[in-house]
Amino acid sequence: MKRIDLIANKGPQPAKAYYNPSVSLSRRKLLASAFPLPSLAQSSVRPLKIIVTGGHPGDPECGCAGTIARYTDLGHEVVLLYLNRGEGFCGGASLDLCAGIRAAEAQKACQILKARAAFAGQIDGRAIVDNAHYESFGRALSAEAPDIVFTQWPIDRHRDHRAVSALTLDAWFEGGRKFALYYYEVAGDTTMFTPADYVDISTVEPRRRAACYAHVSQQPDRWYPKQVEITRFRGTESGVPQAEGFVRHPESKSSVLP
Ligand SMILES: [Zn+2]
Repeated sequence: MKRIDLIANKGPQPAKAYYNPSVSLSRRKLLASAFPLPSLAQSSVRPLKIIVTGGHPGDPECGCAGTIARYTDLGHEVVLLYLNRGEGFCGGASLDLCAGIRAAEAQKACQILKARAAFAGQIDGRAIVDNAHYESFGRALSAEAPDIVFTQWPIDRHRDHRAVSALTLDAWFEGGRKFALYYYEVAGDTTMFTPADYVDISTVEPRRRAACYAHVSQQPDRWYPKQVEITRFRGTESGVPQAEGFVRHPESKSSVLP
């Protein structure tokens, strides 16, 4: 069984660490076809509440903007819950302006995606994961009563990404695993990620791009092309031009993906 060139190259490939070379393309396709998810477009499910948690403004957009656009186009409600307002970096502007600049960028991205922005009140680069913050984050999530939550994959280079992932997982366990829990990947930081569920984002790619480019202060030219490389690769795995790939927690109920 032949793998495509991207994962068949010999030797260590640190830049491609998010691809799992031990799983062949043909096996992934086989797995996907053996366990097809119901399609939202074809089903008559009630409107769903979806929350996408992320370490910083821009993370949910980077990993899930195509899927978010597909959901909201179908009439579902999506909230992007950011752990902080991006106080730690906003290009050349003074740090004390960053929270305002980046929260405004997040609002613009959410407008493009027809979603709502929410902020969990932590500080960029200084994420705290302790009992008090587990509880306050859990309260914020359960107040939204989501049907599905997407969060960042925990094996990640950035502490804030690992923090939001841990806070979300804890809220899920403590809340009785009421919502479906999925993990997403972001360019440059996610490692050891092998998705099993895919969402075709080919038709909404321009909006995914616009939502990412709303984060002007984050210099999207530096990371957006890497995310496109990922979604093209996920598209190859799932048989479409571009896809976002997800991992469902093995103890989570499955839910309809768009
Ligand atoms: Zn981030």
